[in-house]
Amino acid sequence: MNGTTQVLIVGAGPTGLTLAVDLARRGVSFRIVERSPEHPAGSRGKGLQPRTQEVFDDLGVIGEILATGRVYPPIRAYAGDRVVWEGRMHEPREPTADVPYPMVLMQPQWRTERILRDRLAELGHRVELGTEATAFEQDADGVTVTLNGSERVRCAYLVGADGGRGSVRGQLGVTFEGETFETERMLLGDVRTADLGREYWHTWADMATQTTRVALCPLPGTDVFQFTAPLTGDEAPELSPATFQKIFDEGSGRTDVRFTDVTWMSVYRVNIRMAGRFRVGRVFLAGDAAHVHSPAGGQGLNTGVQDAYNLGWKLAAVLGGAPERLLDTYEEERLPVAADVLGISTALYGRAKRGEQGAHERGEETQQLLLGYRDGALAVGERGGERAPDARLGDGRLFDVLRGPHFTLLALGPAHAGLVEEINAVYGPAIRAHTVVRPGETGDLTDTDGGIHGHYGRGLVLIRPDGYVGYHGDAGGLEDYLVTVAAG
Ligand SMILES: Cc1cc2nc3c(=O)[nH]c(=O)nc-3n(C[C@H](O)[C@H](O)[C@H](O)COP(=O)(O)OP(=O)(O)OC[C@H]3O[C@@H](n4cnc5c(N)ncnc54)[C@H](O)[C@@H]3O)c2cc1C
Repeated sequence: MNGTTQVLIVGAGPTGLTLAVDLARRGVSFRIVERSPEHPAGSRGKGLQPRTQEVFDDLGVIGEILATGRVYPPIRAYAGDRVVWEGRMHEPREPTADVPYPMVLMQPQWRTERILRDRLAELGHRVELGTEATAFEQDADGVTVTLNGSERVRCAYLVGADGGRGSVRGQLGVTFEGETFETERMLLGDVRTADLGREYWHTWADMATQTTRVALCPLPGTDVFQFTAPLTGDEAPELSPATFQKIFDEGSGRTDVRFTDVTWMSVYRVNIRMAGRFRVGRVFLAGDAAHVHSPAGGQGLNTGVQDAYNLGWKLAAVLGGAPERLLDTYEEERLPVAADVLGISTALYGRAKRGEQGAHERGEETQQLLLGYRDGALAVGERGGERAPDARLGDGRLFDVLRGPHFTLLALGPAHAGLVEEINAVYGPAIRAHTVVRPGETGDLTDTDGGIHGHYGRGLVLIRPDGYVGYHGDAGGLEDYLVTVAAG
């Protein structure tokens, strides 16, 4: 039995890895176990939304993500080899003061995972491959997990980041409601060919129904394309390079594009399901283990990353002495967001034990920048629960100040200098407090173009470690708020 593991993470997909990186930088003792003997090779979820890029900025991997990814190329639709339409999935947008990463970025999932694993290694941790969580029991003081049927590990908290087919959810007796569309399947894979240019996402459609028959999307920094083709009928195709070539030839009507290699092959069944609870006692569900998506939304990986990012700081805070009640807010905040992302919100809200009315906005929700926790228990004040936008600050950016595992208190105007000093003395380094002043005033951070004052007005703004505003108000309510979220 291992007496020092505080958190055991089951599953090393993007959700488990994000949580691992966050816990590692917070100094929480944890293990991350993965039943597969090797790391996955498929491109799978390839779109990283703007909000995910902000999370990756905070976790210290955005440089590598930007250096190796690219924005989505224009789409070209063909009839055979004749171009019949050209367009873009996302209109190009330039970074602004408040949104530094405005474009969805393409990265094959295997590389996103590798970059997160590299960061984990930098922080002194690694994924334990070939290690399956086979059973667990929880009691009032912790969870005992069995690994590979024999090793027993004692931990304070267990996180099931074990994917849609994972077993943690089932062992908890938590429902996974929604639908599986057995007949709506897609052949997916990574194929190598030198016969098509890499500047376009090539698609061939059925002109009568305007539905895509087959598409090849060039994956950045590789010589492979992600292959997608809807499957018709009930038959399970044999997963072989010959099947990919045949379906491409039939769907495109071309004979001049030859695949020299197929590096990953899969059949994807459309599944839209959500767990009825995201927490049972000391066990949490995150990512695909808690919600599975249709591939059309492109939200699966991104929503899992946000789950992990919401949970990481709360686990660390409670392990460090913050009230246990803080952990309830994981499900309270994430379940409505996931339900909304899945589009099955109303019915599932009602069934969820602690699901409260939607703490989110609608509109550009695929970018996940407008998602927030406004109606949640941790949201106080006019901007409480909202994403804290970036802003220009002196020669740098507000995100430079937020980056790291701490809370950030922004005191607007020079009048709060005394309070800032006191907070830093009592709560530092868990909370870093700053006065933010307009140019010409005296304070430690200068709101270069007034963006911060324009957004928040006046008073105090406490930004949570996951980049959402917790408290927005005057000094009177701050102390009470801090007691609920931070160990003093
Ligand atoms: C074929 C396919 C195609 C996809 N295409 C898209 C797409 O186009 N766009 C999109 O946004 N998303 C797509 N997705 C979804 C996206 O890949 C997922 O949303 C994302 O991987 C979820 O990450 P996760 O970490 O929550 O779960 P996973 O990535 O599923 O990781 C879970 C991990 O847990 C491990 N595990 C399971 N049980 C145990 C156990 N008992 N002990 C130890 N380890 C365990 C598994 O081996 C796995 O590695 C696709 C998924 C698949 C499978």
